[in-house]
Amino acid sequence: MTLQSACASSKEERVLPLLYPETRARHSHSKRIDTIPQHYAEMSGEELDVRIAAARATLGERLVILGHHYQRDEIIKYADYRGDSFKLAQLAAARPQADYIVFCGVHFMAESADILSAPHQKVILPNPAAGCSMADMANIAEVEECWEMLVDTLGDDAGIIPVTYMNSAANLKAFCGRNGGIVCTSSNAPAVIKWAFSRGKRVLFFPDEHLGRNTALKFGIQEEQMVVWDPKDPMASDNADEEIENSRIILWKGYCTTHMRFNVQQIDKARAEYPGIKILVHPECRREVVEAADLYGSTEYIIQQIEQAPAGSQWAIATEINLVHRLAKTHPEQFIFCLDPVVCPCSTMYRIHPAYLAWVLEGLVEGEVINQVIVDDEVVYWARVALERMLAL
Ligand code: SF4
Repeated sequence: MTLQSACASSKEERVLPLLYPETRARHSHSKRIDTIPQHYAEMSGEELDVRIAAARATLGERLVILGHHYQRDEIIKYADYRGDSFKLAQLAAARPQADYIVFCGVHFMAESADILSAPHQKVILPNPAAGCSMADMANIAEVEECWEMLVDTLGDDAGIIPVTYMNSAANLKAFCGRNGGIVCTSSNAPAVIKWAFSRGKRVLFFPDEHLGRNTALKFGIQEEQMVVWDPKDPMASDNADEEIENSRIILWKGYCTTHMRFNVQQIDKARAEYPGIKILVHPECRREVVEAADLYGSTEYIIQQIEQAPAGSQWAIATEINLVHRLAKTHPEQFIFCLDPVVCPCSTMYRIHPAYLAWVLEGLVEGEVINQVIVDDEVVYWARVALERMLAL
């Protein structure tokens, strides 16, 4: 059985209590339950459907369910809105009548929704173990250590602008807000890099090395002007000082496990098998994959390309499998497949199972808020500063 078919036929009914310790500490003051009651884990899909529908009907306008494009069909069907992380956070802010925002996505997305929503709104992540492996590759202690080392090396005239990808913890967005920096998404990264270079000499980009590199190349920065910062082994090179002094962009060594699965051999194979096929990839893929593709862009861009394409077009897409399957299903007039034939879903997004959704919704009906994501006020303030700089572009 291939990995793909193993994933497609799996029944995700495990209880997944693991949560990155730093994330756990940030939310110690909210009511969090990492272990779903067993009877929810044992319910059939049909029973969960009935219970979720009943809870939604009872909560009415007080509830909004947001679904990220990478969520499985069994979850996305309940979403009032679908989108990428930033679009969903904005949608949450645009629905002040909803007291409860249930975010079917991953942890940093729920934090962003909490930052942008009104004070009375409660943001809930159904399974608190739904983190993002990339976001977890940079934490505030490591980023502050990096910042100090860079300032030590470069002196007072360092001119570094910190830029964090949306896929990062709220306290890293706040770090950018406090230090003259900004947030970017995969759609607006080029405009954000331009903004940063109009204010400083160098950019510290975290946590995704690949989005940072692909964007810098687009901006005309050469590979020799880039330095990769490994938080586990900083300044390891013998010429580290010199490399940093000559750099224009410092790239955090982080990556998306889902998008790292794609490679150039898959592109060559797709082209050999389907002459004329268009290769469409996400900018979290490696440089060589982006360069070998016909088109690249954010999740929303990928969806747009497919929606605008004529019948009969052929596409091999390098992004999360649930989205690719959904595009193939909703556009049967086109030929669409995932570039990696054995790719599995984003494993952390996959932790939002209907059983978790039923559990938190029934909790709300009973007046109990389970797994609320609460960002500290000071973090909210500075993270908003960084987000508002981005919105003003
Ligand atoms: S697809 Fe990658 S970046 Fe997105 S949530 Fe999953 S691990 Fe994080």
